[in-house]
Amino acid sequence: MARAEITTPEALENERLTDAALRPSRLDEFVGQAKVKESLQIAIDAAKQRKEPLDHVLFFGPPGLGKTTLALLMAKELDVSIRTTSGPVLERPGDLVGMLTSLKAGDILFIDEVHRLRPALEEFLYPAMEEYRVDVRIADGPHAQTLPMQLERFTLIGATTRFGLLTPPLRARFGLVERLHYYPPDDLVQIITRSAGILGVAADAAGVAEIARRSRGTPRVANRLLKRVRDYAQVRAGGKITSAVAAEALKRLDVDE
Ligand code: ADP
Repeated sequence: MARAEITTPEALENERLTDAALRPSRLDEFVGQAKVKESLQIAIDAAKQRKEPLDHVLFFGPPGLGKTTLALLMAKELDVSIRTTSGPVLERPGDLVGMLTSLKAGDILFIDEVHRLRPALEEFLYPAMEEYRVDVRIADGPHAQTLPMQLERFTLIGATTRFGLLTPPLRARFGLVERLHYYPPDDLVQIITRSAGILGVAADAAGVAEIARRSRGTPRVANRLLKRVRDYAQVRAGGKITSAVAAEALKRLDVDE
């Protein structure tokens, strides 16, 4: 791993798979972001009471703060299925048709980096979001025809790091818009303590605080630093993460405060 990568808030290639173990799977395990959690809980409870699908939800904020995690755990809380994709991988409306038509009532479609949807896809999504309908092109060229298809009442959850790049019509179609903020040190301490428990590594309070201080307010970075410090502690320091062990390990990785 190149040195610069260790504190990047973006997911590294291997992390897409390994992140899963440390992801909270229930809303009450999700640390911090109290305001966001409360709005989501209210929306979830209301949707359940009315037996209606949840409004479309947009999460925005810097990478690594928990947008994907929230989308996945909302599916769990609502007891529905979730399909995930992302703006840049979708090339044509056709790429979404299969996904949309496979959704059952209440299911969630998660689109990461939703600000990077191509214009044609965005327009294709408008009636899907508003009226649960898509207009599928069944021929090309001068005799192009479209066939309207009815969808089940699904919930779209979009995530973006670049709120300002969303077009106003797309933004307007999300009923719930929630901003995630960088985490204060206390929250990061809780996240690291929880992760250390899952990874089965001993860490004292000062050791955890040392890692939290250098985590750039970002859970993804906190978990990554914890794993590197754990390796060092295991091989060089008898397995326990103390403040001195964390400081030494992070110094070797060129992670400043
Ligand atoms: P984003 O989608 O915003 O880039 P993710 O949801 O992928 O971020 O979160 C990155 C990692 O950080 C996840 O694997 C998860 O383990 C951890 N994480 C994020 N937010 C929290 C939180 N509030 N509590 C505990 N862990 C979190």
